[in-house]
Amino acid sequence: MKQLWQKLLTTLLLILFVFPAFSQTIFKEALSPRNANYDISAKLNPEKKIVNGKMQLNWINITNDTITELQFHLYLNAFKNTGSTFMTESGGSFRGSSAGGDELAWGWIDILSMRQKDGYDLTKNIEFIRPDDGNENDQTVIRVQLNDSILPGKSIDLDIDFTSKLPKIFARTGYSDNYFLVGQWFPKIAVYEPAGMRFAKKGGWNCHQFHANSEFYADYGVYNVNITLPKDYVVGATGILAEEKINGNEKTIKYHAEDVIDFVWTASEKFIEVKQDWKHVKIRLLIQPEHKNLAKRHIESVIAALEYFEKHLGEYPYPNLTIVDPPFRGAQSGGMEYPTFITAGSFANMPNEMRLIENVTIHEFGHQYFMNILATNEFEEAWMDEGMNTYFETRIMDATYGEKTAFLGFSNFHIGDLEYQRLGYVHNNSRNIAESFRFAWDYPYGGYGINSYNKPATFLNTLQRIVGNECMDDIMKTYYKRWKFKHPSTNDFIAIVNEIVTKHHADKFGPNMNWFFDQVLYSSNICDYELSRISNKEIESIKGLVDKNGDKKLITNNLKDSATSYENKVIIKRLGELTMPVEILIHFENGREVTKYWDGKERAIEFKFKSGSKIDWAKIDPENKILIDVNLANNSYKINKETKPIKKYTVKFLFWLQNIIQSIIWFV
Ligand SMILES: [Zn+2]
Repeated sequence: MKQLWQKLLTTLLLILFVFPAFSQTIFKEALSPRNANYDISAKLNPEKKIVNGKMQLNWINITNDTITELQFHLYLNAFKNTGSTFMTESGGSFRGSSAGGDELAWGWIDILSMRQKDGYDLTKNIEFIRPDDGNENDQTVIRVQLNDSILPGKSIDLDIDFTSKLPKIFARTGYSDNYFLVGQWFPKIAVYEPAGMRFAKKGGWNCHQFHANSEFYADYGVYNVNITLPKDYVVGATGILAEEKINGNEKTIKYHAEDVIDFVWTASEKFIEVKQDWKHVKIRLLIQPEHKNLAKRHIESVIAALEYFEKHLGEYPYPNLTIVDPPFRGAQSGGMEYPTFITAGSFANMPNEMRLIENVTIHEFGHQYFMNILATNEFEEAWMDEGMNTYFETRIMDATYGEKTAFLGFSNFHIGDLEYQRLGYVHNNSRNIAESFRFAWDYPYGGYGINSYNKPATFLNTLQRIVGNECMDDIMKTYYKRWKFKHPSTNDFIAIVNEIVTKHHADKFGPNMNWFFDQVLYSSNICDYELSRISNKEIESIKGLVDKNGDKKLITNNLKDSATSYENKVIIKRLGELTMPVEILIHFENGREVTKYWDGKERAIEFKFKSGSKIDWAKIDPENKILIDVNLANNSYKINKETKPIKKYTVKFLFWLQNIIQSIIWFV
């Protein structure tokens, strides 16, 4: 409990600085354009699962276009009924959980009024639009015709009153009993893209409907959010706690966040709070009482991620991070990322060797970079968000917990994180072929996860092995440095890859790396090289008549020249359509080894030698660079048949395990 003088001081400060417009309370120099700024007062009714909100939006036109209308996301309307695009696409279920139930279970958001600062009422101008699919039942996007245009460099201030009814949690957001994870909960202005930005041919709002398989896209801003709720609730939110005021049975908590693209909060009476500082970052874990013994695993793994990201990508620019561990019944809000706020997931007595907590915590933390700091369009280029993040997840997991043990570390049964993610791609590739570059809701055969997570993680690890660690770190650090707090596109990333690879390797891989991305990103082709055959044929000396001292002499025996007594052949086939330059290591019985290089383009190649020894074995890609090759078991060939692949996984078991794990906890 606070002392009385503190209460008085708090009240005084609140009057002086907080109301009516504490958006001026900017703590440090802007890191981002800050063109979408929100002051929100929200009041939670825990029984009715309703948030009543009043917000002031300050939106700045940072483009050279004149803006005549605004567009907003009303994400919660995805949960209004089974007719929404989210529900029709998902069939009413998400990550194994189903929507619906009684009236309380559905979610929606209503805008009660929208007024300009000068009093002009825009409420009547609000209309639903369905830019993606024309679905008349979808109410997740609105457009608002403006009375006065917004000229370049000018801004608009709007007062918006809204009511948000939270759904029973089945996909990311909502309530479960008295646990609340309040995400995608307020009217969210879309991103205006001028011509030339990303793939925009002409200027316009980029405002997609809420789809089953898609996340979000938003501009940066400063958020000041007051949350009023019963005083016994423990609250966590994006940003830093600026103020807490108790008033009878209620309290009002003020959060302040800068240079972020979204704002989320959580409330529960049951959370236990665990705190730890790491360098400039205050880490706060809100964990379920029954999981308290797992707190160390959350904290240690997020510190491992912070250290790795700061070393290999760039600084974590925020002062804090909140980790939320949802209750069992709210598990579908776990494994989610918001600015300075992530949700993980655990179950009681999870063995230390099963590193799901670490995997999810590290993955979701990674989104602070690939989502928040590098704010890509997650609707349209999911691979830049999920794929790059899963790539970093594999690097951090394997560096921290071991290449062969990071995901599962039991002594008799273990697998690394990269191995696990790669398996998700190679085991499914025949059934889920698609390009990684696609709109998130447009992957065929339910291939969103495989093509936006597993496949990019696999091909980015392949790229790293081809160009080398130093070059890859340079690529990623340059990407971070140039594009932090902006909206990079796929083309922007590839341009950096081309520039940095040329800097490190000149034209070793060709004039640019487009050949790589054309195949792994823009095509669904599969990579599979096979070491088909080795043959060692003894060379007999010639028989018959040879000239010797002016005579013809008959030779009948098979005397051999020992230096070239064998004709050796190695035959390699390209079974897939995707081509990669490959190395082939050839090992002779006498211990000699030869490495051959092949551009991998023809359908098959034959390497021939004449030597005094038989070839014993040969292996394609001996350094295991080409992880995108879907079948590593056919990469090596040993004469005399014990064709043991270097490593054999119990693939079917792992695939089964993967399905089980994903039905327990899916992360996005
Ligand atoms: Zn993710």
